[in-house]
Amino acid sequence: MAKDLYPVCARCTKVVCDPRLKVGEEPHLNEAPAFCPMKLMPEVIAEAITEYDKPEVKEFARLASVQEFECYEQLPEGRRTKIPRVEELIQFAGKCGYKKLGIAFCGGLANEARILTDILEHKGFTVASVRCSVGATPKERIGIKEEEKIAGPGWLETMCSPIIQAEVLNKLKVDLAIMMGLCIGHDTLFIKYCRVPMTVIAVKDRVFGHNPMAALYLSGSYYSRLMTKTK
Ligand code: SF4
Repeated sequence: MAKDLYPVCARCTKVVCDPRLKVGEEPHLNEAPAFCPMKLMPEVIAEAITEYDKPEVKEFARLASVQEFECYEQLPEGRRTKIPRVEELIQFAGKCGYKKLGIAFCGGLANEARILTDILEHKGFTVASVRCSVGATPKERIGIKEEEKIAGPGWLETMCSPIIQAEVLNKLKVDLAIMMGLCIGHDTLFIKYCRVPMTVIAVKDRVFGHNPMAALYLSGSYYSRLMTKTK
C-alpha cells in the first residue's frame, strides 16, 4: 500500500465498483481514485473473495442477497422499498432455516425486547433473551468509582455484561443472536465474544430514539457542533 494512502470509499466520486453497466461489460477499474482499496490492496481483495468459495459461506451470502432483493418491489413508476428491518429479520431467519433466536438487549430497551419477543414468537421462532445486567455484577468489579455511577455515589449499580450475554447465547447455541440497543463499547465486546451468527436490530442512541443517523441529518443545522474541528 502506498505510503500515507488508505481507503476512503466515503469520499469517492467515481464508484467504479458499482457501475451502471450491462452483464458482460467490464467496470473501468483503472478510473478508480488513488485511495481506492482495489488499487491499494488488490491482494487482500483477491484473497477475501475466495472465502465465498466455501459452500456454506456462498449459500449464506446468496440468501442475504436474495433477502436484499426482496426488500424492494418494482412498480411501473419505479422501485419502491417494501419492508422494515424487523420483517427483513423475520424473512431472513426463515430463509436460513433458523428456529432458535437469541436477543441480547440493553435494560433501557426492555420493553422493546418484550415486543420483539412477541413478534418473533408469533412468527414461529423460539426466542431466548439476555438482559445486559445479567450476572448482577457490581460495577466495582471493573474499577468504576462512586462518582462514575449513573445513579450517583452510594448506589449499588450492576455493570453491563455483554460478555456474559454472548456466552449465554453461545451456550444455548442459538441459530441467530440479535443485538438490541447495547451501548457503544458494550456492543464491541458482545461482537467480540459472540460465536454464533449475529445481526443487529437496533443500536443505542439515547437522544434520538435509537436512530443515530438523526444527528448526521441535523449536522448542518441544530447539530452543527459535530462539524466544528477539534484540535
Ligand atoms: S471501492 Fe474504489 S471505486 Fe468503489 S467506492 Fe471505494 S474508492 Fe470508489
